[in-house]
Amino acid sequence: MTSVIGNLQQVQQRIAAACAAAGRPVDEVTLLAVSKTFPAEAVSEAFAAGARSFGENYVQEALDKIATLADLRRQLQWHLIGPLQSNKTRPVAEAFDWVHSVDRLKIAQRLAEQRPPPLGPLQLCLQVNISGEASKSGVLPAEAAALALAVTALPAERVQLRGLMAIPEPAGDAAAQRAPHRALRELMAAVNAQLQQAGRASRLDTLSMGMSADLEAAIAEGATLVRVGTAIFGGRSAPPRGEPSPCKWGGAGA
Ligand SMILES: *Cc1c(COP(=O)(O)O)cnc(C)c1O
Repeated sequence: MTSVIGNLQQVQQRIAAACAAAGRPVDEVTLLAVSKTFPAEAVSEAFAAGARSFGENYVQEALDKIATLADLRRQLQWHLIGPLQSNKTRPVAEAFDWVHSVDRLKIAQRLAEQRPPPLGPLQLCLQVNISGEASKSGVLPAEAAALALAVTALPAERVQLRGLMAIPEPAGDAAAQRAPHRALRELMAAVNAQLQQAGRASRLDTLSMGMSADLEAAIAEGATLVRVGTAIFGGRSAPPRGEPSPCKWGGAGA
């Protein structure tokens, strides 16, 4: 039996220790509790233990949970971290606070058109295929700056580009784990330089990287938001029917 409260405390201690080791203030790092495949009750439990930001991968599953937990809506933030198809952007624009998985302009355009103005801007990250794997989703590093320039030209009251997200390949030792996270940090600096050169007012300030297995390496390289599922909620079974597994090494047994 997994204790969400105990697990959450352990993860918070890992984050605090990693920040201390990196000489970073602990409040620079937001913990995103990844609740995909777990029921609304698990989210309530984590909420009661202090978690305020939740990450979901599957749109329909998330919408059901958001509806079930409508009473808490103003007190927590919902982040979509899984792949987003263009025919599902409307409910996402209407229900979420953040989308981390923007990998092409069309998705950002649709989210901007469909974001209800009273909600304020939807917060976006570009997902980057940092390891350059052919099978992975995400924009290639060489194309990230062009996409950032296009997304920051969309109406600022509808969408705000906040940063970059990556799901690096699993790596064994700490040094190998740090390399892709370092690459994402350097890419964000390069993108910001291009935004400045182009006269854009906006700058990226969010590095969404680090999961249960590698959050220390990510924090050492500047992560500002770590996405942690297994270490909080326990191992997962298969994704819901018809949904792709977004993250094969993050599943049950991890
Ligand atoms: C599932 C998932 C996570 C959490 O992974 P864990 O290894 O369970 O911590 C983080 N990010 C993304 C994009 C995921 O799909």
